[in-house]
Amino acid sequence: MSDDAAAVLELPWGPAEDGLDQPYWDGLRAGELRLQRCTRCREWIWGPQWICGHCHTFDPGWEPVDPVGTVYSWSRSHYPFITELAERVPYVTVLVALPNAGNRRVLGILTGEDTDRVRIGDPVTGHIELDEGATWPLLRWRRGAARGEQV
Ligand SMILES: [Zn+2]
Repeated sequence: MSDDAAAVLELPWGPAEDGLDQPYWDGLRAGELRLQRCTRCREWIWGPQWICGHCHTFDPGWEPVDPVGTVYSWSRSHYPFITELAERVPYVTVLVALPNAGNRRVLGILTGEDTDRVRIGDPVTGHIELDEGATWPLLRWRRGAARGEQV
């Protein structure tokens, strides 16, 4: 790919046009994982919602969360449903439960040398990565707990 092509490459991730998940993406750019947490009842919310499903407060707030969790489920893809992942097949998608956020679950790609050995319950640590040519970073996961952190 030429430099010109990379400059105009529009990768299929980033904030939705309605702005609902904008704080999530802004958080990744700032180097942290942010999830919604109701300012009234303190319930964690994911995916993003306009209203708290627990107490019906509008416009729940956002809070940073340590990107550590456990694999709740996973799937290995052999077909690149997203064209930009064609060079990565087969790749493993993980659904990660976040104990520091009410066990809310977030999706991401598992990276690292040992993705073949992934198991449900494995501790994983999130890493924010900005791909070449991308406008928005992504949260990806690696097996193993971050040094000094309990999962
Ligand atoms: Zn609430």
